[in-house]
Amino acid sequence: MRIATGGISHETNTFADTLTTLEDFERRVPGVLRGQGVIEALTGTGSCTGAFIAASEKLGFELAPLLWTFAQPSGLVAQEVYDALSAEFISRLEDAMPVDGVLLGLHGAMVTEQIEDAEGDLISRVREVVGPDAPIIATLDLHANITPLMVEAATALFGYDTYPHVDHVERGTEAAQLMVDTIEGRVEPVTGYRQIDMLLPPPKQCTLISPMRDIFALVHAAERRLGVLAITMSGGFPFSDIHDVGASVVVHTAGDADLAQSIADELAEAVWVRKDEFSLQLTPVEDAIAYALQTGEGPVIMADGSDNPGGGAPCDGTVMLEALIKADAPRSSVAIIADPEAVEGAFAAGVGSEVTLTVGGKTDDRHGRPLELTGYVRLLSDGLYKNKGSMMTGMAVGMGRTAVFVVGGVEIILTSNRIQPFDMEALRCVGIEPTDRLLIGLKSAVHYRADFQPIAKAIFEVDTPGVHRPALTEMEFKRVRRPIWPLDG
Ligand SMILES: [Zn+2]
Repeated sequence: MRIATGGISHETNTFADTLTTLEDFERRVPGVLRGQGVIEALTGTGSCTGAFIAASEKLGFELAPLLWTFAQPSGLVAQEVYDALSAEFISRLEDAMPVDGVLLGLHGAMVTEQIEDAEGDLISRVREVVGPDAPIIATLDLHANITPLMVEAATALFGYDTYPHVDHVERGTEAAQLMVDTIEGRVEPVTGYRQIDMLLPPPKQCTLISPMRDIFALVHAAERRLGVLAITMSGGFPFSDIHDVGASVVVHTAGDADLAQSIADELAEAVWVRKDEFSLQLTPVEDAIAYALQTGEGPVIMADGSDNPGGGAPCDGTVMLEALIKADAPRSSVAIIADPEAVEGAFAAGVGSEVTLTVGGKTDDRHGRPLELTGYVRLLSDGLYKNKGSMMTGMAVGMGRTAVFVVGGVEIILTSNRIQPFDMEALRCVGIEPTDRLLIGLKSAVHYRADFQPIAKAIFEVDTPGVHRPALTEMEFKRVRRPIWPLDG
């Protein structure tokens, strides 16, 4: 049995000004992987493809690796970049033929300059190569905007059940198992699908807290019903302004299409009736800082989700940083500000030097203003680490050339790359011990909870401006189907 594998992944924030280039795919560690390079880089990692590789050994099938890459979320993917990467993907698949099936590791919210549903496009082109009978099974992020075309072109879809995403390996393993069972004729998966006309703000998609925790309890109960193979409850990525944006349910059963559809309808209704619970209240930054200063107990986590690079934001927003400096907050860290120019200024000055740097606010005018700050350079680094927490464990992360710049009681991790600091190693690799800090500002909406929540004395989702600000009714949507909650009440 021979299975092709690969994936082109991106989570596209169509509100961000930053066009996603080939360099963005190449720069994010591990870059653009080709052929055996996929196996070499992802074996043993907590990724879906890592799970496909492990399953190939355990279940005894041969993997034909094609191409795998995952750029940091940002604005629209440049058309020529998607065209080149997808053409190479398809040509590698043609060269790998004959194969019995295709396992794809995808995200599910990629938008190019011309294609709203890039995954639908890619899966359809894979289908054209392998023909109508070979199974195509894809893993998807919990933030996938699952479209009718994706459902039609794929045999089965496996979305994550967790946010923070800590179940890549489980979903990848299940996908590989279903692939083998389907090829060997033990099951014939059929699909039920229902879009939910709701845009869910990311902080409310967290599966550690209600209502999503309760909704996933219903999903898992339904998965135990006779004949049910797998259920994906996708929260959707609301910052992709496309027709099919939003939450959805995909149900696979062993041959019973009516059962699959009725469960999809039931679960969609279970989300819809709780829609009021998906409204979100953010905390003013000053209030979160005042709370920490008053209690004196840290770490108090401030999640600056509006500037979350994991959702396509620039990661150079300064509103939270400015408030910390203004409050003269002691023992405080900001992870991270992506500002290659400021990093080079710190490198030019050298370790231990005092220097004045213009920090952040440079990508656009929607994430605070650039701050002129005088401080000292404590540490310079290559910014490389490996995740040690429960999310994407073992995956290498590259922040690029990195400096720790200290202004009063506030230390700022200045990086060259936009990285979501969801693993404590983002701080520890530059000598900052999170458990010693009073206040930690993180450019993350929810993922930080996997590693930081257990050590946090308090967590605040702070109200800052940005392209990932979960105040959806204040954003100018143009392409989404209407009516949809909460835009239309
Ligand atoms: Zn996600």
